[in-house]
Amino acid sequence: MTYQPAEDRYTKMVYRRVGRSGLKLPAISLGLWHNFGTDTPHDTKVAICRTAFDLGITHFDLANNYGPEPGSAETAFGEILKTDFHGLRDELIISSKAGYLMWGGPYGEWGSRKYLVASCDQSLKRMGLDYVDIFYSHRFDPETPLEETMGALDYIVRSGRALYAGISSYTSEQTRQAVAILKDLGTPCLIHQPSYSMLNRWVERDRLKDTLTDLGVGSIAFSPLFQGILTGKYLGGIPDGSRATQGKSLNPKLVSPQAVDALNKLNDIAKARGQTLAQMAIAWVLRDGGITSALIGASKPQQVIDCAQAISNLDFTAAELKQIDDLADEAKFKEWAQ
Ligand code: NDP
Repeated sequence: MTYQPAEDRYTKMVYRRVGRSGLKLPAISLGLWHNFGTDTPHDTKVAICRTAFDLGITHFDLANNYGPEPGSAETAFGEILKTDFHGLRDELIISSKAGYLMWGGPYGEWGSRKYLVASCDQSLKRMGLDYVDIFYSHRFDPETPLEETMGALDYIVRSGRALYAGISSYTSEQTRQAVAILKDLGTPCLIHQPSYSMLNRWVERDRLKDTLTDLGVGSIAFSPLFQGILTGKYLGGIPDGSRATQGKSLNPKLVSPQAVDALNKLNDIAKARGQTLAQMAIAWVLRDGGITSALIGASKPQQVIDCAQAISNLDFTAAELKQIDDLADEAKFKEWAQ
């Protein structure tokens, strides 16, 4: 059946300015890392994307290697763009990235101009697009001069393949250098995509949020649910069909008995706030405005519906924050998983 987007979709989401740019992103964005490869039925992928857009989630995040197999998430999303989002391109922010292994030989990963430009062209072809809105350097390359990697992003933007440039998982120091190079080239760095959640706080230790605020660069936090651990899903241990059972990127040892106990206590705090644990985890990432958007993943449309409601309560009391810090102790979770 032809998809008719919900007419009231833009009343259901809040949109936040990305750093000092003209662009706004939804407070919650959808990533296609998992659940969009050939291991997932196409109808599920379509339903997740429709549900997201109906809730005002205008931003879909991809990368060359999302699958399995690498590239298949972009191919599937290209199909969905054709069948469902035809005529809606100007209402969507679509991103892709290159940095991790995509093809064999010396030109299939990291940060050379050769790899980034070729990979961007491949991504555009897979998605059937003339341009992506944001193109990222997916990871810092210690062996390629940063001037070359940033020069490639500048070229990708100037040649019309992307509207904006971004970087992912760069440290504060690397970010300062990258942003300065891009500024000199005349293509501002729009956004940084780091991992960040109650259980993963490297951006705070690295003062990355302060750096980005200082530089006027926006931010989109990936895995705000710590791959699903910060949801109601693991409150009784590891359920069938969850990411922790799939031998994917989530180490099931992280769901230790001590962790489950702490998650239940976090869930009590969420309940007292009138939220699910997933909603509280997303609200926590967005709480002080230092992060522009929370980039979630989903294996079912209902998860997107649950997560999108996080925006109804983004404020925390000092007492709640202290309790969360004590319970969601990154070091303890790691230790319990040993
Ligand atoms: P999350 O931390 O949001 O985890 C998503 C998983 O959590 C889902 O697959 C689902 O698990 C579970 N989940 C989500 N919502 C709910 C809910 N309401 N109730 C119960 N369970 C829920 O993010 P991801 O780790 O998936 O990453 C999100 C995106 O970030 C990626 O798609 C990608 O775009 C980006 N990313 C970027 C990286 C980078 O290097 N730049 C690296 C990794 C991710 P289940 O599948 O078990 O149902």
